[in-house]
Amino acid sequence: MIKVCKFGGTSMADGITMLRVKSIIESDPARRYVVVSAPGKRFGGDIKVTDLLYETYDNVVVSGETGAAFEKICERFRGIVSELKLDLDIDSILAETGEAIVKEASPDFCASRGEYLSGRVMAALLDVPFIDARDVVKFGPDGKLDNARTYALLAEALKGKKRALVTGFYGEDANGRVKTFSRGGSDISGAIVARAAGADLYENWTDVSGFLACDPRIVENPVPIRSLSYKELRELSYMGANVLHSESIFPVREADIPIRIKNTFRPEDKGTDILPTSRYTYSGRRVTGIAGKKNFTVIFLEKSLMNEEIGFTYRTLAVFMKHGISFEHIPTGIDTMSFVIDSAELKGGLLEEMCDEIRDAVKPDSLRVINDIALIAVVGHGMTRSVGVSARLFEAIARAGVNVRMIDQGSSELNIIVGVDNENYERTLKAVYEEFFD
Ligand code: ADP
Ligand code: ASP
Ligand code: MG
Repeated sequence: MIKVCKFGGTSMADGITMLRVKSIIESDPARRYVVVSAPGKRFGGDIKVTDLLYETYDNVVVSGETGAAFEKICERFRGIVSELKLDLDIDSILAETGEAIVKEASPDFCASRGEYLSGRVMAALLDVPFIDARDVVKFGPDGKLDNARTYALLAEALKGKKRALVTGFYGEDANGRVKTFSRGGSDISGAIVARAAGADLYENWTDVSGFLACDPRIVENPVPIRSLSYKELRELSYMGANVLHSESIFPVREADIPIRIKNTFRPEDKGTDILPTSRYTYSGRRVTGIAGKKNFTVIFLEKSLMNEEIGFTYRTLAVFMKHGISFEHIPTGIDTMSFVIDSAELKGGLLEEMCDEIRDAVKPDSLRVINDIALIAVVGHGMTRSVGVSARLFEAIARAGVNVRMIDQGSSELNIIVGVDNENYERTLKAVYEEFFD
């Protein structure tokens, strides 16, 4: 039995949490390979090491020096090493890291140093070999993970080692420079190591007792989900349930490796099992979970007989392609079509430019832009072919006095997505949760 364990930022926050991590690993001989994040927040208002590193990069750009943000990071690591009474020359490691940050002067290299440093400390604490992800996680010239090379290098690096530690969040690109995943990406690193090690289980250790039916920062004490399918996970995490990065399933899915979300601070709690869709057993609930995100822009097009106009969607999407913009959803009617886009992608006059080009390309009767939209996704295999879920959903939203701005249902019937004004986001999420779970 091989388990790969990934520990997130709160599990790596200070010396005491690192000792907890050590005891979790050592309590089970199957927990052979460990992936770590950078130290996260120790208390509300604290700053994650990764955020301090992005600040450090800004300092380097402005002044050529790592500055106060890096000094805070150094203090944190010196504190951890002295708390753990480790025989590790952290001063030299920090000095070398500071010099490398100035020399490489890249945001990805700088951001990756949190995982590098916490990996060095944790490998010393566990007394296991340290594997730098730069040497084993490789991206191709297209910027995507080079699967074949990565799995071969990692398998070779892990071979014959009883235990080992691999740093999360980053790898190396085709030009030999450090490249990170998107934020929260150590979850993906954990999945890659699980796949390369041929693990039986990928344990993802965090600060909540599993995947909860709704965001605990908005709904008080949501019920835990005992088991989820890969597909449900992908829908929920993509739509904002950021307890696990939405791309984490890809490496493990092909090898049918289950993921288990566990709480470092309550290891006895069962947590959530995320299973291949074929092995997943229906919980009996119509809705498995609810998630959501704010700040979307909708471009709404209307044109009589749009349905008969061959190439309408194609010509509109050509505008998106030209600007390299991806869309989240395209809800359609007979003569209407909406494009839902993450507002962060449309900065600096791009929205206006694209709207002009779409007007030219497809001559709609009307084109409207709706800003500040939040999306809420209700997800569950139990919704498939079951009558009444959408009626209950829309009744609950109406009872909360919220106007629905947009509706989209995926063709798999695995989700219903509702758009509301940003300001109604929290209220809607609570109302929907109460309808299906309270
Ligand atoms: P880590 O640092 O361990 O990777 P994250 O902060 O990335 O942890 O993810 C855990 C956090 O995700 C929780 O503390 C919680 O606030 C948040 N979260 C959002 N949605 C959910 C959900 N549906 N279930 C559990 N946690 C959620
Ligand atoms: N440290 C990185 C971040 O804060 C990656 C991670 O924690 O997964 O996004
Ligand atoms: Mg995370």
